[in-house]
Amino acid sequence: MTAVIEARDIALAFGETPALRGASLSVQAGEVLAIMGPSGSGKSTLLHCLAGILVPDAGEVLFDGQRLDTMPEARRSALRRDRFGFVFQFGQLVPELTAEENVALPLLLNGVRRSAALAQARPWFARLGLDGLEQRRSGELSGGQAQRVALARGLVARPQVLFADEPTGALDSLTGALDSLTGEQVMELMVASAREQGTTVVLVTHEPRVAAFADREAIVRDGKARALSAGAGTVAP
Ligand code: ADP
Repeated sequence: MTAVIEARDIALAFGETPALRGASLSVQAGEVLAIMGPSGSGKSTLLHCLAGILVPDAGEVLFDGQRLDTMPEARRSALRRDRFGFVFQFGQLVPELTAEENVALPLLLNGVRRSAALAQARPWFARLGLDGLEQRRSGELSGGQAQRVALARGLVARPQVLFADEPTGALDSLTGALDSLTGEQVMELMVASAREQGTTVVLVTHEPRVAAFADREAIVRDGKARALSAGAGTVAP
């Protein structure tokens, strides 16, 4: 197996607060890796370093064998746009856009024509149980629906790697009676869709039942990562 992303002994402090203190982790092409650990242990910081959003103070981050941490910001940003997808907690949709425009956004930013981008966005609505919500704005969606729109947006451009930070976080507290899909079903859809298109997934969660959908788990404690052996929690593709 080849590593698509690798962190080697990375350290990062926010002022006086050390968030990462020598974390190493490698993510294999096509795998679904869950990063777990207590709150404040450095999981999100590690994810942001792996995705080239944050640059560590020390250590190396490699994507497809290239150093991400020494790459100029313009190239890193182009790489994030072209090769990575993101799903963050609470969806973070653009409120002025309709649901289908939100899903199509990564394609539009990549220069795909509007009609083609919307055509590519639409099948995600049926797939994620969002039929009929295409024209709604984020204020007219439940937390769970908005999260699924964000998930579709993360996957629509068929990214090489999908980064997800607590992708079901908003569902646990906000899923109402009108929402038929639970956090687990959304995870199942995310993993199935990613596997179908060969997208590698790196997800941060504190929920063992969410991590159970991953091929492998890594535990972050006190800013250091420890990979658990493959096998536990593996689900059939
Ligand atoms: P986790 O995702 O495991 O909850 P984080 O990576 O968010 O942990 O945070 C690790 C540590 O870094 C915590 O002590 C947190 O308070 C601190 N931290 C994270 N982001 C920032 C920031 N932007 N500014 C200051 N401190 C931060």
